[in-house]
Amino acid sequence: MSDGNGPIAAARADGRTLLTEVESKQLLHDAGINVTQARLATSADDAVAAADDIGYPAVLKVVSGDIAHKSDVGGVELNLGDGDAVRAAYDRMMSAVAEAAPGSSVDGVSVQQMADQGTEVIIGTTTDPQFGPVLAFGLGGIMVEVLRDVAFRIVPLEARDARQIVREIRGYPVLEGVRGQAGADLDALEAMILQVSEFANEHPEVAELDLNPVFAYPDGAIAVDARVVLAED
Ligand code: ADP
Ligand code: MG
Repeated sequence: MSDGNGPIAAARADGRTLLTEVESKQLLHDAGINVTQARLATSADDAVAAADDIGYPAVLKVVSGDIAHKSDVGGVELNLGDGDAVRAAYDRMMSAVAEAAPGSSVDGVSVQQMADQGTEVIIGTTTDPQFGPVLAFGLGGIMVEVLRDVAFRIVPLEARDARQIVREIRGYPVLEGVRGQAGADLDALEAMILQVSEFANEHPEVAELDLNPVFAYPDGAIAVDARVVLAED
């Protein structure tokens, strides 16, 4: 795959290993992975124009090579219903980020569509010095952060590995559906896991990849946040 003028080349040219959300999603979208596509806007006017184009409700997120966890610094604004809401959120976000992460260089905001709430899962890869890329799957939010309920497989995965990895986590009943709650589309999750495995396999220059969260629906799945980290050049 040629990345001659893609996000990886752009990051390398800047001496960055952390790709922005916009860059990460562009790469993953190009690989056929279902993401909420994000557009970079560099002013409030620009953000409103992008949201008008993409549609409402909209989401704004700070774009900065210095900020890995956007919501920690007031850098995520959800469910913006119209242009006025986008404009207000843009201004709020710029002050919040300047206060919480002083000195960080901000490129602007990413503008994207608000996705319907689904069951939050994470799909990620890291690089093991011995085994190379390793894929992780787990439930999102508190389940992964507190309970470390995550399963791993060495890349590349086969269809059978994808089937097993989603069934291995303790939280699997949540994906099956509990107490009248609809379950998740396991076929869609397994397909996304295999796409991520293939992506990692084909991009040895990617040291780390995080789809956190992916929203899993009774029908389909979509990644609403993405982070790609390159290996040192
Ligand atoms: P970060 O992980 O850098 O703090 P995220 O992009 O993951 O920021 O956003 C924080 C939370 O906001 C997500 O976990 C998700 O629940 C919600 N969220 C983010 N993007 C969207 C979106 N496009 N549609 C709906 N919810 C979203
Ligand atoms: Mg996230």
